Parts: sequence; C-alpha cells; structure tokens
Amino acid sequence: MELPIELIFFIFNYLDYDELHNYISKTKFIKYTIFKYKVNESYALGIYNNTFNNCFLCNTQLTISYLMNFCSCCSSILDKYPMICNICSKKYEPKVYGSLVHAKCINCNKKAIHLNINYWS
Ligand SMILES: [Zn+2]
Ligand SMILES: [Zn+2]
Repeated sequence: MELPIELIFFIFNYLDYDELHNYISKTKFIKYTIFKYKVNESYALGIYNNTFNNCFLCNTQLTISYLMNFCSCCSSILDKYPMICNICSKKYEPKVYGSLVHAKCINCNKKAIHLNINYWS
C-alpha cells in the first residue's frame, strides 16, 4: 500500500532535515523541500546538491574554495545560504571589493554578497 504523500511528509517532519537525503530518494527530497519551504523546483534541487557538498547551481563537487550566496531572500527560506562554485558565481556579474564579492543573488537577482569561504576559514 502506498501511503498518501501528505502522510509521508508529515512523518518527514519528525526527522532531521539535514539527514533526510540519506533515507529518501532525490525525487521525494525535492518534493518535500518544495512543500516544506515553499520554494521552486530549481531551488529545491540546489539545496539537494548542497547537501552532497556540490554546487547549488551546476552540481559539481565544491573544492575548498567556494562562495556563499548571502541574500535575505535565502535566509528567510532556510537558515542556510546556497553554496556555489567560482565558475557559477562569474555568471552573476561579480565585482570584487577586498575579500568581498558583490554579485547578483542567484535566486532573486538583487544585489547580494558572494562570500568567498576560503578567505574566512
Ligand atoms: Zn557551479
Ligand atoms: Zn536573493
């Protein structure tokens, strides 16, 4: 018997979201993320990519040097910011001021900071 999706999602609520990708399929993880955080499919896919330490946008493995997309639109969704690779960051018109990279937000396209994590670790 297949459980109704609402019931499955209800059960997921009791599990640790950060561990969820270990137990459920990619499709279910993405559907649940859309349901739970009211995000679109590409954002949910990005969260999924990040849980495996891959770029939010292109899904390649992140190296020790990557960027975090700091924008209020993202902090209101999860208490996490999307992690992206240097190549993807370049598509958002980055301008470097010292160690800060001013670039467009990957989600809402407004002005944001792509924080180079390498500088801070
Ligand atoms: Zn990328
Ligand atoms: Zn944004």
